[in-house]
Amino acid sequence: MGKRWTILEIKEFAQKNSESTLLSKEYHGFSQKLLFKCACGQNFEKTFTKFKNRNQRKCDVCQPPKESGERS
Ligand SMILES: [Zn+2]
Repeated sequence: MGKRWTILEIKEFAQKNSESTLLSKEYHGFSQKLLFKCACGQNFEKTFTKFKNRNQRKCDVCQPPKESGERS
């Protein structure tokens, strides 16, 4: 809890825990949308909170957003 992630740690997390690649070069906090490249080749934006805690680790085509839950 309360861990401050660096952009390098996030990149590593994405490499190990998803098929997506982090494209963003800077990380300013949990509310920031990061740019990822999905395994299908499409880029998508996602906050790290959603990426990590909500398992939203692919683009909206490969992993359509669920209707329930918050909207961005
Ligand atoms: Zn995709």
